[in-house]
Parts: sequence; structure tokens; C-alpha cells
Amino acid sequence: MLFLSLVAIENIVIGVMNSYANLLLGVKNMTEAKICCICGEKFIGWGNNPYPIKKEGECCKPCDDNVVVPARINYIYGDKKNELN
Ligand SMILES: [Zn+2]
Repeated sequence: MLFLSLVAIENIVIGVMNSYANLLLGVKNMTEAKICCICGEKFIGWGNNPYPIKKEGECCKPCDDNVVVPARINYIYGDKKNELN
């Protein structure tokens, strides 16, 4: 009975440690500096999909708002000048 209880406690402790490790990994991912593929500036946090300006990489929020989103709107409404060749 004591043995079962210890196993149960051990499983709970391992579960909590795994959750904590996942949390730390997630935080690391959120705080890791990345380079914007459009302006080349460092940024923190989740990158944005730069399509149709770039096919690969991640861009910062200002570039997403000021460059990528307008390009997407142009792309959708038929102005293909921002389209990748
Ligand atoms: Zn940028």
C-alpha cells in the first residue's frame, strides 16, 4: 500500500516536472531573439508568416502590419506586383 502510494506520488511529481519543462521550453521559444527576414531587425516572440513578400523565414510584427498585410491585400485584389516570381 505504501509502495503504491509512493509510485502515485512519483508519477505526480514527474508529471509536474514535465509540465514545468514544457512551460520553460515554451517561454524560451517566446523570448528567443529572431531575425526578421524583411527588415533584418531582431525581434522577440512569435514570428509572422512573411508571404507573399518572402516564401521562407519569419518577420517581425511591424513588417507584418506595414509590409506583409498590405501586400496580401494587393495580392488578393489583383495587383500582383508583390508576387514572388
Ligand atoms: Zn521586420
